[in-house]
Amino acid sequence: MSSGAHLDLVRGVNDAGVLALLRGGNPMARHDIAEALDVTPQAVTKILARLGERGLVEEAGTVSAGPGKPAVLHRLVPRSRRAIGVHVTRTRVRAVIVDLTGTILAACERDLEAGTSPDRLVDIVAELATQLRSTGEGALVGIGVGMPGSVDHDAGVFRGSEASDPWSGLALRARLVERLGLPALVENDSTAAIVAESWSSPHAVPDAALVLVEDGIGAGLRLGDVLHRGAHSDAGEVGHTVVVLDGEPCTCGRRGCAQAEHAAALARGDVARAARILASVVVDLVVLLDVDRIILAGRSIHRHHAAYLDAVRGAMATELPRHDWLHVEVLVSTHGDDAIALGAAAEVLEDEFGVPAALAGPA
Ligand SMILES: [Zn+2]
Repeated sequence: MSSGAHLDLVRGVNDAGVLALLRGGNPMARHDIAEALDVTPQAVTKILARLGERGLVEEAGTVSAGPGKPAVLHRLVPRSRRAIGVHVTRTRVRAVIVDLTGTILAACERDLEAGTSPDRLVDIVAELATQLRSTGEGALVGIGVGMPGSVDHDAGVFRGSEASDPWSGLALRARLVERLGLPALVENDSTAAIVAESWSSPHAVPDAALVLVEDGIGAGLRLGDVLHRGAHSDAGEVGHTVVVLDGEPCTCGRRGCAQAEHAAALARGDVARAARILASVVVDLVVLLDVDRIILAGRSIHRHHAAYLDAVRGAMATELPRHDWLHVEVLVSTHGDDAIALGAAAEVLEDEFGVPAALAGPA
C-alpha cells in the first residue's frame, strides 16, 4: 500500500469513528469525542473539519463545563444525505425514504397480485422509489431492498426460497441500478431488520439475534459486533430446524420444520402452540450462538406479541441448559411494519459511515 493510500485509510477509519459516535443522536464536544476514540483533540478538530466539508457534521451550540471557554458541540446534519429502503414480500412492497439519522421522511406501498412476475416486481420497486426520491433534501446515497428467503448479498441477486420460485435468480440490484441510476443493494429481510435495530447505537448490542416471524422464520445475526451473513450469505435460516419428525411438509423439501409447524398451528388458530414452537427455535439459537439479546419482529409477532413474548421469556427462564446464570434479554422490535425497509435504507447509509456495504452502481 502506498503511504498516500494508507493515509486515506486511516482518515476513513477516524472519520467513520466520529460519525458512529454522533449517530447516537447526542451532540458532542471535541474533547468528549477525543476521549471516546482515544485520539488527541487536535486530531478530532481535523476530522470534524473534513466531515464539515462533506456537509455531514455541523456545530450545535456550546456547553459550559466549569471555568474557561464553553465547548462547541457537534452533531450530524440529518438533511445532508438520504436513502431509500424497500421491503418486498410476496403480497406487498413497502418503501421509505430516510435522512442521514434514519428518520423516515415519507413512505408508500403497493399490494402485489398473486403470481407477480420478476419484471413486474422490478417495475413496482422502481415506481415506488421514483415516487419518493423528490422528498427531502441532500444527496440520495442509494436504494436498499430487504427480501425474504435466500439472497446473494455480494452479487445482489435474489436466489429464492425454493427451486420453483418464479423470482429465483432475479438480479434485482443490477436491474435497479439500470432503472434508477442509483447505487443499490439487496439484503435478506431479517438481516436488514437487525441493521435497523443496531443503527442508532452501533456498539451497544455486540451479540444479538433478531428473529423475524413473517411467512417463514429467520434470524438476523450480529456476533462480536459485526453482522454475520455466513459463507453463502444464508446464515440464520432457523425456521428450517426440524421440531417434529415426519411432521408438516415444508417448502424446503423436509418435513416438520419449525416454520411449517408454526404456520400450521397459526392456520388452526392455535397461537399458544405457534408461540411454543417459536420459543423452542429461540432456545436452540441461544444455545448455539450464546447471544445475550433476542429481538422479536415481523407480522406474526405484532399480531400476537403478548403470547409470543411470554412464551419466549418463559423458555429463557426454564429451558436454557444453564438458565441459572445465562441472562438473555428478550424484546419486541419497536420499528413495527417499517423495520425491514428502514434497515435496508440504514445499510445504504452505513456506506457513508465507512461501513463496507454491498452497494453497487454509479458513483
Ligand atoms: Zn424447511
